Amino acid sequence: MPELPEVETVRRTLEQLVAGKTIRSVAVHLPRIIQRPDDKAVFCAMLEGRTIQTVERRGKFLRILLDGLVLVSHLRMEGRYGVYKAGEAVGKHTHVVFHFTDETELRYKDVRQFGTMHLFKPGEDLSQPPLNKLGIEPLDESFSYASFRDTVAGKGTKIKPLLLNQEYVVGLGNIYVDEALHKARIHPERPAESLTKTELQALHAAIVSTLLEAVEAGGSSIKSYVNGQGEMGMFQQQLAAYGRKDEPCPHCGEAIVKTVLAGRGTHFCPSCQVLKPKRIARKHT
Ligand SMILES: [Zn+2]
Repeated sequence: MPELPEVETVRRTLEQLVAGKTIRSVAVHLPRIIQRPDDKAVFCAMLEGRTIQTVERRGKFLRILLDGLVLVSHLRMEGRYGVYKAGEAVGKHTHVVFHFTDETELRYKDVRQFGTMHLFKPGEDLSQPPLNKLGIEPLDESFSYASFRDTVAGKGTKIKPLLLNQEYVVGLGNIYVDEALHKARIHPERPAESLTKTELQALHAAIVSTLLEAVEAGGSSIKSYVNGQGEMGMFQQQLAAYGRKDEPCPHCGEAIVKTVLAGRGTHFCPSCQVLKPKRIARKHT
């Protein structure tokens, strides 16, 4: 499932490929991808003649800004965009095609068919579902230590599920939550309210640096990220904890453990990330 860095990489690539292109017509082959408006014919008619201006992102959602409309797109598990020349063979699982006036087309493929598209007038999308309840953007200037502390403070929820909840901080999924908690040396089951100021500061910094590194890794590999068919997919960057069960922790060498927390595979170092931190004995001098 793409998380913030993958969606950000798709956003950058997509913007390079489609900004300035004008839609001549749209074909929808799987109506349930289109969540708003209800009628796919209306969706297609609304987009005809519109020019794509920029592609933005809110959490894990893409916001494709056109003149007079905003198309909100969520890739969910397997959604992919690709730009093709008109007439090129159409691959399996192609559900939506945006035909441009320059004889190219943007195709949306989705093997799992979980992706969604919502169409709004400008200014309406951020105050309505699915974007209205999203929390702070961790790569935005507004994500200060103070705003993070206020989001987490006093909550009895375990820190990992809290970070996965998009109503608090957006864009983090299973991979980057495990990575940020490992980097900050915090056990994923610690109640949020039990974190000390030092731990919260470390976690805030770890979230930002983990995401930035991943965005940079994606950003620097944009060319390889678009495959021969012009498809944009996910990239894997070097991970320290996630997916590394039984491998040595890069900090201490202890074997990474995998458990299940709130139904999600969870990776951590049992030595660096302890559930009940020992009190540091004060030296009496
Ligand atoms: Zn360790």
